[in-house]
Amino acid sequence: MKRLLLLLLICNPLFLFSQRIILHCGKLIDVAKGQVVNEYSIIVEGDKIIDVLAGYAKPSATDKVIDLKNKTVLPGLIDCHVHMEHETSPNRYLEVFTNNPADYAFQSVVYAERTLMTGFTTVRDLGGTGVNISLRNAINKKLIKGPRIFTAGKSIATTGGHADPTNGYRKDLMDDPGPAAGVANGADECRKAVRQRYKEGSDLIKITASGGVLSVAKSGENPQFTEEEIKAIVETARDNGYKVAAHCHGAEAMKRAVKAGVNSIEHGTLMDDEVMQLMKQYGTYYVPTITAGKAVGDSAKKPGYYPALVTPKALAIGPKIHNTFAKAYKAGVKIAFGTDAGVYAHGKNWLEFVYMNEAGMPAMEAIQSATVSAADLIGVYDKIGSIEKGKLADIIAVEGDPVKDIQSMGKVTFVMKEGVIYK
Ligand SMILES: [Zn+2]
Repeated sequence: MKRLLLLLLICNPLFLFSQRIILHCGKLIDVAKGQVVNEYSIIVEGDKIIDVLAGYAKPSATDKVIDLKNKTVLPGLIDCHVHMEHETSPNRYLEVFTNNPADYAFQSVVYAERTLMTGFTTVRDLGGTGVNISLRNAINKKLIKGPRIFTAGKSIATTGGHADPTNGYRKDLMDDPGPAAGVANGADECRKAVRQRYKEGSDLIKITASGGVLSVAKSGENPQFTEEEIKAIVETARDNGYKVAAHCHGAEAMKRAVKAGVNSIEHGTLMDDEVMQLMKQYGTYYVPTITAGKAVGDSAKKPGYYPALVTPKALAIGPKIHNTFAKAYKAGVKIAFGTDAGVYAHGKNWLEFVYMNEAGMPAMEAIQSATVSAADLIGVYDKIGSIEKGKLADIIAVEGDPVKDIQSMGKVTFVMKEGVIYK
């Protein structure tokens, strides 16, 4: 027994005490204050940041030091709009008939790890089959590597709406999916659909308040819920401690969703001045997903990539988001970073920083949108979203200085999530 204990101690000094990790940071982005500071130390113990100090702190004999003196260190990034279960492919519309839940599960493991390794330590999964709930659990149990996930489970749509899972099917396969499958009509079914998500263990609610680009349906912008229905969703969501994210391309859908009290408008493509004013009045976040808009526009140019009903929508709607973002930013709408990863290849989420910057948002503000603002939208800024004493140790480092050159966001060399080093 004694021998075994000795062996454990020699092999694993963590057996008796939790070792402190000291990060020596050449540059550190203080996202709370919006400034870059030089030569700082972050002290991590267990899963938390226990101190942030000026200068390079001297380690004790048992401390582990990580040298990031020639890097820029910033909080782990947060993407407020991803789909971890799948990735764009011309076979996507066939896969719903050929894939089993286990197929989605295995591929989501790969996408989750890729996302984490590019510096995104937290994501909101805004809709899948429900496998995303198991994926979140497996990551929380540390069975697999991936970002912390806040998942909507299955999106909620109206019959024939953007997230109705049987759109475009042959009539005898269409059936008539209801609240359990995420399809709801009328206030009562809407309440039931939210309660179903609660029962399944989701973390928030996603609705498709207008038509969308990739669903096999004619309109990419028609309003798809009444204001009364959205209100029923929002009220029931609040009863369960949930926030509501609303996919919208059309302005009328956005007006209804904002007035009904949703927390974020996703995509927001055809946002007009009235919508922007309403969003400011209600404090609604805008999650732009410029990357997805550009990607679907590009894929639509490849013959046969999308079904015939989808191609014209992708060409018309996708490329418009960049401009909408520029206007919304200028108007002072609150912006939280989100990319719609899955609609394009996972792992390229960082491109959104480049597009936001091109559209007029300074690099520091783009980084704040993926840290401070994103954490605020999810409701977890007390735990993540900045490098401060007492917060979870979600910390990354990049080559160069992203505040001076936003391309640095694509050069992530160090990833720590909850005190565990993954890269
Ligand atoms: Zn999406």
